[in-house]
Amino acid sequence: MRIFNTFSAKIENFIPFDKNCVRVYVCGPTVYDRIHLGNARTLVVFDLIIKALRRKYKKVVYVRNITDIDDKIIARAQEEKTSTVELATKMIAQFHSDANALGCDEPDFEPRATDHVAEMITIIKSLVEKKHAYISEDGHVLFAIKSFPQYGCLSKRKHDNNNDCNQSNSRSNSRVEALECKRDADDFVLWKPAENTNTSDSDNTATPAWDSPWGRGRPGWHIECSAMSRLLLGGSIDIHGGGQDLIFPHHENEIAQSRAAEPSQPFVKYWVHNGYLLAERKKMSKSLGNFQCVADALNSVSGEAIRLALLRAHYRHPLDFSQQRLLEAEKNLDKLYAIVASEKNENSDIRNVKIMQQVEEALANDLNTPLALAAIFSFADNIANLPQQAQKSAKQELKSAANLLGLLQNQKRIGKNLTKKSPEPDANIDDKWVQKKINERERARASRDFVLADKIRDELAGLGVLIEDTRVEK
Ligand SMILES: [Zn+2]
Repeated sequence: MRIFNTFSAKIENFIPFDKNCVRVYVCGPTVYDRIHLGNARTLVVFDLIIKALRRKYKKVVYVRNITDIDDKIIARAQEEKTSTVELATKMIAQFHSDANALGCDEPDFEPRATDHVAEMITIIKSLVEKKHAYISEDGHVLFAIKSFPQYGCLSKRKHDNNNDCNQSNSRSNSRVEALECKRDADDFVLWKPAENTNTSDSDNTATPAWDSPWGRGRPGWHIECSAMSRLLLGGSIDIHGGGQDLIFPHHENEIAQSRAAEPSQPFVKYWVHNGYLLAERKKMSKSLGNFQCVADALNSVSGEAIRLALLRAHYRHPLDFSQQRLLEAEKNLDKLYAIVASEKNENSDIRNVKIMQQVEEALANDLNTPLALAAIFSFADNIANLPQQAQKSAKQELKSAANLLGLLQNQKRIGKNLTKKSPEPDANIDDKWVQKKINERERARASRDFVLADKIRDELAGLGVLIEDTRVEK
């Protein structure tokens, strides 16, 4: 397998530290809101990397954390007059439902930051002892980037010695906090003092805080991943991944903390980042407000269609997203499902056939999903031209090849061509009954009961009534 390493800026042969156990850590969501399609891209890309690794290596340990304490969570919980715990619990459940709809396997470990504050404090203490961190007058513990000469090694940012705090405005877009108390503008927070010290157990909307050698407070975002990856994977991680926006400052800071605390540990071998998802040529992000939640997209298309649409572009390239792309993906899936329809009861685990090799090879070459999908669709287009007796096995091969990408795995959908031409409407059909069915289906979609919604759509289609979905606005 070959993979692009952000650290070397080259495609490299993937050679794990230990071929008997591949260790992967991916930065997971900050759970203050539903995830959007840009977040979904990271989920799907790393799910595919894990699936590919699992076929090649006996053991793969996949850790994807959950950031359940963060300024954004605190602010949202206050807005909604709820506790951070309640908000996080609700968002984690929704995140799991979205990830499942996208066909993503669960990680082996999904640590939550608030369960590991003690481990974070241990690392911060050692950084303070080793003079890599300092305590400011107002009680913040900050990492001193000048104490770590390799700072900037991942993002290739040259450090300017005159970086004083007044210049930090230019970094306001990259989640670097502007704080008066910093010695250097890129110094980052390891520990934050609690704003509100008069917390009582009965006040469940109070900002959570933990005791530490520096008083009550909470950890900074970056230290979470250093602590949880060390706890669950030790000091040597094969692949550490996330979206491209995490290269700086988040991953740069993780390197500084982890390496400064444990200089003898290699930390990460391959840094892997997926490109931005664009909406009208701008990065899709919560802060720009141009995002579409996965949950909203699921109102008009299946999670599998979202997955296919996301895999159409190479994972490192920007992907300009639109509703049109999603609808096209759904149509293409319909086509594939219709082709494999007659093979639904067959065992699909076929190895060593040409199309599967092509897909495996494309994925092994820096996860070239556009090439893999092109091979699958051209193979699918050709099946009808094959002699009758060869078609049966070709359909099975097609299904197995698509399975490598996490596609065509929905048994219930096999045999349903949703774009097929339906019979002429039955003249005897009762309009009121049709309207009732349509309303029933709308309610099913609104409550995300897509099994029922599909059933009603098929029932109507059988009578020649075609339903064209538009996006449901909240
Ligand atoms: Zn992280």
